[in-house]
Amino acid sequence: MNIHEYQAKELLAKFGVPVPAGFAAMSADEAVEAAAKLPGPLYVVKAQIHAGGRGKGKFKELGPDAKGGVRLAKTADEVRAAANDMLGNTLVTVQTGEHGKQVNRLYVTDGVDIAKEFYLALLVDRVSGRVALVASTEGGMDIETVAHDTPEKIHSFAVDPATGFMPHHGRAVANALGLKGDLAKQAANVSAKLYDAFMGTDAAQIEINPLALTTDGKLMVLDAKVGFDSNALFRHKDLLALRDETEEDPSELEASKYDLAYIKLDGDIGCMVNGAGLAMATMDIIKLNGMFPANFLDVGGGANKEKVTAAFKIILADPAVKGILVNIFGGIMKCDIIAEGIVAAAKEVNLSVPLVVRLEGTNVEEGKKILSTSGLAIVPANDLGDAARKIVAEVKKAA
Ligand code: ADP
Ligand code: MG
Repeated sequence: MNIHEYQAKELLAKFGVPVPAGFAAMSADEAVEAAAKLPGPLYVVKAQIHAGGRGKGKFKELGPDAKGGVRLAKTADEVRAAANDMLGNTLVTVQTGEHGKQVNRLYVTDGVDIAKEFYLALLVDRVSGRVALVASTEGGMDIETVAHDTPEKIHSFAVDPATGFMPHHGRAVANALGLKGDLAKQAANVSAKLYDAFMGTDAAQIEINPLALTTDGKLMVLDAKVGFDSNALFRHKDLLALRDETEEDPSELEASKYDLAYIKLDGDIGCMVNGAGLAMATMDIIKLNGMFPANFLDVGGGANKEKVTAAFKIILADPAVKGILVNIFGGIMKCDIIAEGIVAAAKEVNLSVPLVVRLEGTNVEEGKKILSTSGLAIVPANDLGDAARKIVAEVKKAA
């Protein structure tokens, strides 16, 4: 689960991370009120969407010459004008895709005089299996571009979970950023606080870009992208309140209500599978047969009729889906129960695309019988390869 910049900054401030003062605003009036509470003379009005690259982004409604989603303002009138420009309009950035995202919230924050911009992030490094700090002198830029063009300018330090954050990690970050003396101390301090925040919230990612050095010698977080491990959110009820469902993919949102692990993809074949590993293998074998999966969907080990029905509805709501491949291993849940669920769900949703079902495991013969006597045009498959070949053939036949 990701949160907005203003929420991230309020959260980081609680952990002692230095951030400029600021207030969220839902209307132009609120934006002006927010600016009145700040010292001035410079304000920054920032579009709040779950995507970066806002500064260089473009509003669909405003034309190519208009400014992006991060605007400097010196007076209340300029704050109001910026707010009116952004609210309700669609911001397209390198991270939103061409459809862009509608701006419904703003953040009005203190404008600071920037001497230099750095990059500092914390993430779970999949290679070492540890939380790692990633630091670069190339702040304010698109970090993917930096990683591609000048990888030597990105430094990564993994933290041993047995020791936690140590002073040497702070010194390594300061070094990587080329900071000395008091600034090195500040960099170490910010790093330690960010680590506390990461561990304390079960974060998946904290990305500060830029971490700014102000002209009066202070390190400050000017932009923060924070995401949490969804599997740990049950122990952070306060963080759940920060969820903004309007930012989420509607089908992924629906799936989360049924506790289904669903990710929308770009292909044509809808997949319903139990177990993440089997789901990955199913996607691979569809590709091997020349087509692409429309989604990743793991219905989980204890899939019942309700879950299967919900999963079918979510898959079919995607207009790109031209066929469905169900690949279920009946272990804890027996094949006949799953078959009953599939038949009931297929009838309920008025299945309109080819459906190939591969069942294996306990009571598989009973399960296959239920499918074949259902009166539905379900194509049975014997194994994974057979299933993938059949769904690709069925979809091509129907086209
Ligand atoms: P994004 O990464 O989505 O474009 P940022 O918050 O990083 O948005 O803003 C883009 C740039 O705007 C920053 O790199 C920084 O130069 C400038 N900026 C952002 N916030 C402030 C601020 N409070 N004061 C001064 N400049 C800012
Ligand atoms: Mg940024």
